[in-house]
Amino acid sequence: MPNMAPKKNPMPTQQPKTRACNFQEVALGYDETTALDEAARCLNCKNMPCVSGCPVNIRIPDFIEQVKAGDFEAAYQIISESSSLPAVCGRVCPQETQCEQRCVRGIKGEPVGIGRLERFVADWHNAHAVGKPQPAPANGHRVAIVGSGPSGLTCAGDLAKKGYRVTVYEALHTAGGVLVYGIPEFRLPKTIVQQEVDNLAALGVDMETNVIIGKTLTVDELFEQGFEAVFIGSGAGLPNFMGIPGESLKGVYSANEFLTRSNLMKAYEQNPVTPIMKGGKVAVVGGGNVAMDAARTALRLGAEKVYIVYRRSLEELPARKEEVEHAMEEGIDFRLLNNPVEILGYQNPEDPRDPKNGFVQRMRCIKMELGEPDEKGRRRPIPVEGSEFELEVDTVVIAIGTSPNPLIKSTTDGLEVNRRGGIIINEDTGLTSRTGVYAGGDAVTGAATVISAMGAGKVAAKAIDEYLQGK
Ligand code: FAD
Ligand code: SF4
Ligand code: SF4
Repeated sequence: MPNMAPKKNPMPTQQPKTRACNFQEVALGYDETTALDEAARCLNCKNMPCVSGCPVNIRIPDFIEQVKAGDFEAAYQIISESSSLPAVCGRVCPQETQCEQRCVRGIKGEPVGIGRLERFVADWHNAHAVGKPQPAPANGHRVAIVGSGPSGLTCAGDLAKKGYRVTVYEALHTAGGVLVYGIPEFRLPKTIVQQEVDNLAALGVDMETNVIIGKTLTVDELFEQGFEAVFIGSGAGLPNFMGIPGESLKGVYSANEFLTRSNLMKAYEQNPVTPIMKGGKVAVVGGGNVAMDAARTALRLGAEKVYIVYRRSLEELPARKEEVEHAMEEGIDFRLLNNPVEILGYQNPEDPRDPKNGFVQRMRCIKMELGEPDEKGRRRPIPVEGSEFELEVDTVVIAIGTSPNPLIKSTTDGLEVNRRGGIIINEDTGLTSRTGVYAGGDAVTGAATVISAMGAGKVAAKAIDEYLQGK
């Protein structure tokens, strides 16, 4: 008999007051009993609407059937036919707009907790797996991957399993892309990403960090070195700014820099090499997942007050609902329908050598109201005349989006990009305008999701295999 409880089993979490002071994972995961109870809510629908909501079409009812039967390893094997990062996607996928949005249980209550079950299965597998994956027999072909985010790691893994000699070139000193430098530890523990990177190493993938393609080596030089195909998964790490006065003041960061310094340069340690802030008031501008991550990181770094300043209302906030709820519970102050117009700095007229000179002191904002919908259907924010006000702040973090970095395009002949800088590809294969060069993930679409980047890596790996096998 299915479990007809209208609500999902709640996810156990650290208490808001406790977690706001530490970087440990907020959501603690289902135990076995809870996973079995949640799996029993699935009706095993014959037409499987949930599957069409998953960008990589995981056989959701089938894996949940295995959870019901208590065969968690079989459930894992079903998920890993389609996804190479289930422990990651089970944690960070926007399930509410993907698989769970299509779940029939959502019509009269809450959908089945598909993401939570996926996380449970992946964590169970990782805790019980014995031995490392074994390298496949070499097929004599070499492929270079640019970038070690989810698209690059997936493409590398799929090709290595087919016997290709794969080298991943990563600009930073650690592999994992946004999964390590962007998404904070309290949402995605780094050990999970490291486990994926270690599995790739066991498959024979060579990971070359601190190599910037376009500077250290060009795409042409990769071909000259004997690589027969190149996959570009370089992401969209170029931050956008608002273009308002004061953005170059000390204490103004892009969210990318802020999060990288915290995640990779360990700014949270007692005496960090690259400190980013000392207490004080922090304003994060933006309303996406990146803004929520930056705000919650600032809180954990010791900010006395953290604002989210967003120009639309709660309804339009693009961040995952769960992350917004967690941020609110932790005490982040949401200043909705507000937009910054100027950041003002400290200037001591009596002492030009005052060390505080040139640092952020205030942010001038204007209130907004919502007008007619724009071309994307979201109501357009309009400034309310005469409603300007100031917020006292010591640090401002700009999280209003990112674009693909133009470096690779500018150093590679014949690579076409669209007006937003995204590499143009054939969607069925990932092939770019240049023979042998494939691309996928945020470098193509602009900032998107882990699962879509992973899916693009899979598509390209299949096409590269077909190309090099002369099919
Ligand atoms: P990335 O993950 O960006 O990886 C690209 C890699 O390429 C980087 O490591 C970069 O250093 C490297 N690189 C770049 N240029 C070069 C070069 N020239 N040479 C060598 N290496 C290079 N998505 C979700 O689904 N759920 C979430 O909750 C979520 N939260 C997010 C939070 C933050 C803070 C951010 C920034 C993003 C978030 N995303 C989330 C989006 C998601 O992480 C990305 O869509 C995804 O990581 C894109 O994968 P990718 O492989 O295309 O690129
Ligand atoms: Fe849902 Fe994401 Fe898992 Fe697909 S990968 S089933 S969208 S949680
Ligand atoms: Fe189960 Fe929901 Fe999918 Fe039906 S739609 S099979 S109930 S997860």
